[in-house]
Amino acid sequence: MSAEWEKLAREAATHNEPYEAFLLRLTELEVAARSANALAARIRAAAFPVAKDFDTYDFSALPSLPKQKVLELARGEWLEQRYNCCLIGPVGTGKTHIATALGLAACRQGQRVRFFTAAGLVNQLEEAQQQHRLERFLGQLDRADLLICDELGYLSFSRARAELLFQVFADRYERRSLLITSNLAFGEWGQVFQGERMTAALLDRLTHRCHIFEMNGESYRFKESMKAKKEPPKKGK
Ligand code: ADP
Ligand code: MG
Repeated sequence: MSAEWEKLAREAATHNEPYEAFLLRLTELEVAARSANALAARIRAAAFPVAKDFDTYDFSALPSLPKQKVLELARGEWLEQRYNCCLIGPVGTGKTHIATALGLAACRQGQRVRFFTAAGLVNQLEEAQQQHRLERFLGQLDRADLLICDELGYLSFSRARAELLFQVFADRYERRSLLITSNLAFGEWGQVFQGERMTAALLDRLTHRCHIFEMNGESYRFKESMKAKKEPPKKGK
């Protein structure tokens, strides 16, 4: 308001605008600026690795992914319902891209989002534990309406680290949403969580109320680079 009032006041005077109209315009500007700032802050706090949104995602590249259903999730009801989401498929099929786009959509709806890779999250959990601030870190994670855990399965963890991750996931059960991406089918998660009992307990909670998308297809990057190679040279034929 302090940045804009003089300009608006001059305009109002020139156009003989009533005071109420001036005040309304000034207040609307302030409200819009505040909500834009709050959104920018939510996106910063989410710590997305890249800025990827639905506008740059080509659904035709992966026809097995149900576009309508994914876009429905982007409307955010699944978060209100405390549902989870799993994106399962090989490398390069757009899992991180979709996870980020869903996270951005949630930020726009006023939700708090945190994005981690599985390895990064486990590192931070362990560090927090060593520094006797695990409770505080868990509290921060708990305040996120949506926790995104990307790339589960590329690394397997020690038993202690797997237990930390299990604790985070299990704590959210039916209270807050989780979005997990993995290159491993559920049947192979035992490799990550060291032991069938813990894996079974985790999967039971995770998949109870969960939207699961299998993103099976060729790597988008690989396909794009093959296309580029196959295209005839532009000059000289
Ligand atoms: P994953 O996480 O499954 O390994 P990424 O989401 O990192 O895959 O995708 C790899 C790259 O390809 C990224 O730059 C991503 O934006 C792009 N990409 C993947 N699928 C698509 C798609 N269907 N449309 C547009 N870009 C895509
Ligand atoms: Mg990825």
